[in-house]
Amino acid sequence: MRNPPDIDSLVEGVLASDRARLARAITLVESRAPKHAPYAQELMQRILPHAGGAMRVGLTGVPGAGKSTFIEAMGMYLCKQDKKVAVLAVDPSSSVTGGSILGDKTRMEDLSREPNAFIRPSPSGNSLGGVAARTREALLLCEAAGYDVILVETVGVGQSETAVRTMTDFFLLLQIAGAGDELQGIKKGVIELADAIVVNKADGDNVIRARQARVEYERVFHFLHPFTPGWKPKALTCSALEHEGVDQVWDLIMRFRREMKASGIFDERRCEQNVDWFQSLLQQAVMQRFTTENKALIEKMESAVGLGKMPVSVALSDLLG
Ligand code: GDP
Repeated sequence: MRNPPDIDSLVEGVLASDRARLARAITLVESRAPKHAPYAQELMQRILPHAGGAMRVGLTGVPGAGKSTFIEAMGMYLCKQDKKVAVLAVDPSSSVTGGSILGDKTRMEDLSREPNAFIRPSPSGNSLGGVAARTREALLLCEAAGYDVILVETVGVGQSETAVRTMTDFFLLLQIAGAGDELQGIKKGVIELADAIVVNKADGDNVIRARQARVEYERVFHFLHPFTPGWKPKALTCSALEHEGVDQVWDLIMRFRREMKASGIFDERRCEQNVDWFQSLLQQAVMQRFTTENKALIEKMESAVGLGKMPVSVALSDLLG
């Protein structure tokens, strides 16, 4: 990162959809160096009026479900329709295990050669909150750069699905037939976040099982409270490998957009998401400042509370008082 970064040039590059400068702008907002923070803030301030125009689609599924194959198929389909597609990832595993689940193979080779596609791996970081916050800013930068569709991919590490759900309009769970949910490592509750489940690998000998799984998921949805008010989640099948059924998934996403725009839920949720984002950053920042400023006292109270020498309520009111 050049120092000091040339914000005028970055803003101009982002708005002109120059991929190299978009990538540099994202590197700036991903930087955790305190000296970069004011520049990153100025950049975000200036691009924000140009953001908001894309369809934001979250995608999750266990490793091997076919996420990168699906994104490649969907991305190529959209590029052929003259849409611009950005792919972002939230992969906090890199900080936990030292290796990333989403980034350690050559992925999306065709899509990465498309002039209308932009692919960005997950930012690294030691907290999901930090990784997610930087992905949100990258998402806004991609929107300002004129990308029509932003796909945000994640794996089920920690609460990463919830984090991606809260930054996207439509949330898609990619499944494979045959393995039970337990086997697929899908945590309880993730199905409840989904606006659609797509049963992938519906090809060859697997077609019938995939269709059966689709019917099963439709049944499950019947009993669940929909995550998006007024939208009944759907189950579909596709073969990402053979590029089959991907168009139907896109049609469903467009139908969702039309219906949720008409009901007002779409814009309402974006507002809520912004406020929630602000709230969670505020909580983190206040908490961090408070614990840094009162470190010694907090440690003393922890030991007194731990030994049962002081009631928790008294420790709290002493601290806050
Ligand atoms: P990810 O870990 O979720 O990103 O999964 P990948 O996209 O890397 O796919 C895992 C494996 O499944 C690869 O060998 C793919 O070729 C294969 N695969 C993905 N989609 C399909 C599909 O629609 N049909 C079949 N038969 N194989 C698929």
